[in-house]
Amino acid sequence: AILLDFRDVAMTFPDGTVALSGVDLTVKRGEFVTVVGPSGCGKSTLLRIASGLETASHGSVDLNTDRIGYVFQDATLLPWRPVQANVELLAELHGIPKAARAAKAKEAIDLVGLSGFEKFLPRALSGGMRMRTSLARSLTLDPEIFLFDEPFGALDEITRERLNDELLRLFSEKQFAGLFITHSVSEAVYLSTKVIVMSGRPGKIVGTFDVPFDMPRD
Ligand code: ADP
Ligand code: ADP
Repeated sequence: AILLDFRDVAMTFPDGTVALSGVDLTVKRGEFVTVVGPSGCGKSTLLRIASGLETASHGSVDLNTDRIGYVFQDATLLPWRPVQANVELLAELHGIPKAARAAKAKEAIDLVGLSGFEKFLPRALSGGMRMRTSLARSLTLDPEIFLFDEPFGALDEITRERLNDELLRLFSEKQFAGLFITHSVSEAVYLSTKVIVMSGRPGKIVGTFDVPFDMPRD
């Protein structure tokens, strides 16, 4: 089943900037797709359109689920809330009762390896742990598809590698679909078996590559 379907999508902003042109892209259930390309080629715009934060000026975009996880580079945690309450936030906004969202948060915190840190405030966490908290928060809504906007771009290389491994483990365990934006070719190839390359202004898809499972990933 196709979860996300872009057909001939273009984006012209009100100031006349053309950010995307002629984009066709699908993400199927259980498929993890990475999009790689240089800064300014429209990757974030593509993801914002996929999530509904932005409306394409041309073409059609079908997102066939309302269970979306969205993870930004900035972990966007509330600074005055400890990990547990930050992870509960989305479930809370969705009106899930206290006991149920606490249980959901606990499960998500375990999944991302943050057990024991429930009472920590964001400022007491490392960048990688803040990103794990943000991931856990998305997990509480049982997303069918995750949209990642360069989530590990601000982290040091070792933390980034650990989180990439963590993501691979999570995705093979839970079989989510994913659309992952990055400017790093090695990250794209490491994470997925389908790599889409974008380039130019306006950004276009210039190639789609299947990466064999047995290709060296480190
Ligand atoms: P990337 O994520 O690949 O770096 P973006 O999607 O952020 O690229 O931006 C693509 C192009 O669209 C850039 O030229 C950027 O300046 C422009 N752009 C992004 N958002 C807006 C906006 N709201 N209004 C006008 N231009 C924008
Ligand atoms: P809740 O009210 O659901 O427990 P909040 O995190 O919104 O969760 O609020 C926790 C406490 O932090 C409240 O006493 C609130 O008034 C306070 N608070 C809210 N916004 C801020 C802020 N920007 N900086 C510091 N404290 C805040």
